[in-house]
Amino acid sequence: MEAEMEAEMDERMVDGNAVAGLLQEVFSVEATTAIGTCDSCGTAQPLGAVHVFQGAGTVLRCPQCDHLLVKIVRTDTRLWIALPGVRSLQVVL
Ligand SMILES: [Zn+2]
Repeated sequence: MEAEMEAEMDERMVDGNAVAGLLQEVFSVEATTAIGTCDSCGTAQPLGAVHVFQGAGTVLRCPQCDHLLVKIVRTDTRLWIALPGVRSLQVVL
């Protein structure tokens, strides 16, 4: 039974190139109005309302519980984004 389920999952798996259009849509939205939900306290708020701290990189924290939501590091040629404290991100299409 488990082997059948694994075979079924393998048949449905594709690589990330298959969702190129979807990813382009996700990463081209107005992010400040996107509603992020804090993974710690569950508060949902626009990203434009979070607390931002800038140093070697940029850190976004939840204004309610101070939980780390987003880390961003940018160089001239690369951008790294981690969303370790965002339970979900809702954007209007
Ligand atoms: Zn929070």
